[in-house]
Amino acid sequence: MTDWVAQAVRKIEADFNRSSDTHLIPLPIPGAPEIQLYFKDESTHPTGSLKHRLARSLFLYGLCNGWIREGSTIIEASSGSTAVSEAYFSRLLGLPFIAVMPKSTSQEKIRAIEFYGGRSHLVDDPATIYDESKRLAQELNGHYMDQFTYAERATDWRGNNNIADTIFTQMAYEPNPVPDWIVCGAGTGGTSATFGRYVRYQKLPTKVCVVDPENSVFYDSFHTGSMDCRCEGGSGVEGIGRPRVEPSFIPTVIDSVIRVPNVASYAAIHFLEEVLGRRCGGSTGTNFYGVCELVGQMRSQGRSGSIVTLICDDGNRYLGSYYNHDWLKANGFDISSWVERYRRFFNEGQW
Ligand SMILES: *Cc1c(COP(=O)(O)O)cnc(C)c1O
Repeated sequence: MTDWVAQAVRKIEADFNRSSDTHLIPLPIPGAPEIQLYFKDESTHPTGSLKHRLARSLFLYGLCNGWIREGSTIIEASSGSTAVSEAYFSRLLGLPFIAVMPKSTSQEKIRAIEFYGGRSHLVDDPATIYDESKRLAQELNGHYMDQFTYAERATDWRGNNNIADTIFTQMAYEPNPVPDWIVCGAGTGGTSATFGRYVRYQKLPTKVCVVDPENSVFYDSFHTGSMDCRCEGGSGVEGIGRPRVEPSFIPTVIDSVIRVPNVASYAAIHFLEEVLGRRCGGSTGTNFYGVCELVGQMRSQGRSGSIVTLICDDGNRYLGSYYNHDWLKANGFDISSWVERYRRFFNEGQW
């Protein structure tokens, strides 16, 4: 191992050592007091999303595999959040960074990548980000990180302070410390794989529910068993939903996949702003819809317990879209009846 690699690993460990854990925020549901709901707030990482954990793991994996060396250009295919976090770590290590992203990626994320000294390479068709990244890596003799392949294996799923480990530790003194369900979306699929493997390893009864937006293949893939599903274009919720079944999506550790209408995801973040007092990203809205479905299910079975989900990133990244009433209107989304439905559910417990 070169001195440079040793220094690079040390810099990442030191960054981790300076960081604090993210909060687990309870959200009591007045209409369903027998079920406790918690949000793991991943928006408070230095780069604003759960992808901070993934980027750290991918850099350590690449360094310890001998794939990332002094001067390597780092290239990544991303819908944005991973690229922001990888730009941060590239700057920490003094490496050039290029993000290959769909041109629909929010301006806020493109600006954040530039802030950390990275460059954005935008493509028309979201399905081409993989090949374009490979091509660029070859041309520049760089390293294609390939989060969609390596997310599930770069993360230490047994523990070591991964997202599952910290949630279960933070739940220890709650009325129902072992959640009935963990709800998350799938972009790479890495987060759901970590949760699913962790609960098996810990021999816990907790189930994992993946919420999938419109125009994504994970729902169909889970229900048909096919890994060859494809769809055209991007999903309407940045960070989750993919046009192909990503290699990091591990269906065998997932218990349920729920499809979520985009309008329900957008309405959910407007509703959550009322009860959390803050803005969350679109995929947090998708998570909340899944939570409502599961609370409804548990109540109809007369069960009490707890549910944990994630605030994946901050809503301020989407002020021009999901939070913008003109954008919603121009794209044909009428959220008002959905917001009303969430309010009723929250106050009366009826889903
Ligand atoms: C990546 C991402 C997810 C999904 O996480 P994966 O581990 O990639 O499946 C959810 N929300 C946001 C905002 C993301 O960036």
